[in-house]
Amino acid sequence: MFPCARILCYTDKKSGLTIIKICILASSSSGNSAFIATDHTRILIDAGLCRREIAKRLAAIGEDVANLDAVLLTHEHCDHTSGLPALVKNARRPLPVYLTRGTSQFLDWGECTPTLEIFQAGCRFTIGDFDVLSFTIPHDAVDPVGFTLSAQGVKIAIATDLGYITDSLRVHLKGSHVVILESNHDLEMLRVGPYPWSVKQRVMSRRGHLSNEVAAGFIANDLDSSVDRIILGHISEHNNHPELVRNLALKSIRNPLFTKLYVAEPGLQSPVFCY
Ligand SMILES: [Zn+2]
Ligand SMILES: [Zn+2]
Repeated sequence: MFPCARILCYTDKKSGLTIIKICILASSSSGNSAFIATDHTRILIDAGLCRREIAKRLAAIGEDVANLDAVLLTHEHCDHTSGLPALVKNARRPLPVYLTRGTSQFLDWGECTPTLEIFQAGCRFTIGDFDVLSFTIPHDAVDPVGFTLSAQGVKIAIATDLGYITDSLRVHLKGSHVVILESNHDLEMLRVGPYPWSVKQRVMSRRGHLSNEVAAGFIANDLDSSVDRIILGHISEHNNHPELVRNLALKSIRNPLFTKLYVAEPGLQSPVFCY
């Protein structure tokens, strides 16, 4: 059972209205899904939990899985897609899935017939209230992407599952109010940990996952001053600890009075962040 979300609410100062609601339903090596919504458009980014768990975690924040308008997929790995076929199959109305063609070719839909919206990595498109921009990230999937989602001047960026920080990522994250970034492993824990050497090499490679050290380096050197909140996630359950992530990241934030940190702990649902 996940804890009752502490509802943290940051509102638009002028109108007092919430423009975008964000909740990390799950973020770790064993399941990833994030909910991002306006009043009119409800999007799930990745569906790496079973449908029942997605529905339960949405219900905990007052949302109905039946009201989802779209799913955005970052890549085909099962920690991002395991719940997708059931989600699509049991949707009360067609639930479009936005994904690259390469990603679409590596998914097994079983008996369901999905509504696919294919985009090219790097393309911009609209889903309801959201202006969505996709960008390529370096990861050992067929055509992995990160996203920025913007609505009424609020910009959210998500980039997990990436081997290193690219110049393109630095550019795309500029002007974001919320950045959701990977902080996957502690290098020393990975080195001495239980994974076979081939897997360790894969994780550490330029198409693997971001270490705490690299994520902290990004926060210290590249995080835009516009960022109100950095959310660190996709934390390895075997090769990392949330406290290590938190301690290193806190030391790296240049303006802690303005930029707040949230560390998404494996297995736990985040509070709702409102902008
Ligand atoms: Zn992956
Ligand atoms: Zn992943």
